[in-house]
Amino acid sequence: MVGEYKMRKLATIRQINGIRSIPEADKICTYVVDGWTIVDTKGKYEIGNLVVMCEIDSWIPTELAPFLSKGKEPREFNGVKGERLRTIKLRGQLSQGLLLPVDILRSKIAESDFEYLGDCGGMDVSEVLGIQKWEKPIPAQLAGQVRGNFPSLVPKTDQERIQNLKKELELWKTREYTWEVTEKLEGSSCTMYMDLEGIFHVCSRNLDLKEDDNNAFWKVAKKYNVREKLQDKLGLAIQGELIGPGVQANYYGLPDYEFRVFDIYDVKSGKYLNAYERIVFCHENFLQYAPLTIIDWKMFNETIDDLLVMAEGNSVINDKKEREGLVFKCIEDTSIHFKAISNKFLLKSE
Ligand code: AMP
Ligand code: MN
Repeated sequence: MVGEYKMRKLATIRQINGIRSIPEADKICTYVVDGWTIVDTKGKYEIGNLVVMCEIDSWIPTELAPFLSKGKEPREFNGVKGERLRTIKLRGQLSQGLLLPVDILRSKIAESDFEYLGDCGGMDVSEVLGIQKWEKPIPAQLAGQVRGNFPSLVPKTDQERIQNLKKELELWKTREYTWEVTEKLEGSSCTMYMDLEGIFHVCSRNLDLKEDDNNAFWKVAKKYNVREKLQDKLGLAIQGELIGPGVQANYYGLPDYEFRVFDIYDVKSGKYLNAYERIVFCHENFLQYAPLTIIDWKMFNETIDDLLVMAEGNSVINDKKEREGLVFKCIEDTSIHFKAISNKFLLKSE
């Protein structure tokens, strides 16, 4: 397994890698941190400085950065007053996230730990700073009634952003891996799982849901007869995106719900099927697949920026819509995968 990266670190200790001036702007500049660019006041940081970098979709408590509310009353999420970090363009420059001086940690961590911050590259400080991941509220037809926690033997669906995988990307290129590239769908994560005792589960991203004909996840499970299809497949979990009416405001404008498979996990082996096995499984079982862009792509000298450009384009589901991005999955090692979100999509989305 290559580079065991932890998922969903929202605020981390990082270094400024580069500084770019912006034409005709004398007060602001662009700071480069790993694969990210962030516009802020000129002269605030120098190359090599340690900073706290907060990723887009972080919920930033007002105390940390009152200026985010621009003089207005701050919003509220999970009982915390603050603001959500979005993708923006300032003077034509892409700006994603927020930089805070490491001094913001002064009163929050022991003074004796402070001098070691430099050795803590990548350290997650979201919790000490009270930073949470902002999530869209779940509409009623999706919420459903909870049967229990997400099955513990099945991994939750998640993809790390390519901007955070600079070192890993270099390594993967030297290994000449082959990649499956699918379109990233803007819907809701759904896992359908036949456990080892033969009990069928339908789950949202974080919860196991009670059987209910009014719930969109269960509706789609029945539409595709997934319970029957998994009857003799104990331990198999089919993971995909639910798209359609009421899900992410029906981004693709579909007349009915669809379930688009993007992963299959086998609890017995503790592994994901690879792309070929997954495609065959879907084909044999009449399940719809996430739109496939490329199946045997070899990465050569692509940079993070190249992959982000690749991510832009129209959706296969509705070609009038900007696609959310692409998901890359390594065929030789199914534990390696990442997402490249289209910046065009991020700038357009609310
Ligand atoms: P995010 O939506 O940014 O949290 O990214 C991770 C999520 O992307 C996963 O939880 C999946 O629900 C979703 N997703 C949508 N399309 C795909 C795809 N083609 N492959 C993998 N995950 C996908
Ligand atoms: Mn999503």
